[in-house]
Amino acid sequence: MQFKHFSCLLICLFSLWACNQAQESKTRSEPGPTSENRIFLSLEGDTLGPVQKSEEEWKAELDGQEFNVLRQAGTERAFTGKYWDNKKTGVYVCAGCGLPLFSSETKFRSGTGWPSFWAPIRKDHVWLKEDRQYGMTRTEVLCARCGGHQGHVFDDGPKPTGLRYCINSVSLDFVEGAKMAEKP
Ligand SMILES: [Zn+2]
Repeated sequence: MQFKHFSCLLICLFSLWACNQAQESKTRSEPGPTSENRIFLSLEGDTLGPVQKSEEEWKAELDGQEFNVLRQAGTERAFTGKYWDNKKTGVYVCAGCGLPLFSSETKFRSGTGWPSFWAPIRKDHVWLKEDRQYGMTRTEVLCARCGGHQGHVFDDGPKPTGLRYCINSVSLDFVEGAKMAEKP
């Protein structure tokens, strides 16, 4: 009788273990929060509260190249970034604060070696600022929430806007399969 109980217990334990294993492998195969069907809110005001951090705080959060580009307006070398040739569908968010900035829907092949878009995902998600560095007058593109440098915008882009937002890969994170919620 006792032996029977013992076997029963063993079987129960084994089932529990097997169940756990199955659960674990299921969790692993499921898409994480950074993939499929992630929808960003786009209600007025809910995503645009300013993110302000000290230089030390940014330094602690970002790696060397991210800090150089995002906080010191550096530029990555052409054709070296992770997204210039990315053709997947999704949303590009600011690598500094996560604000959605560009969509794969407006990305185009510019041949420059930097991710290029003909429009931002929402006009109010980017700030444009005159940049007179290096003896040129250009328009700098910044994240509207954290002020992170993204790149520049030029007027030699394709239709329908004629604009070319030339953006550093290092300033962006790509969320595959994500899309913006419709404006209410
Ligand atoms: Zn940002």
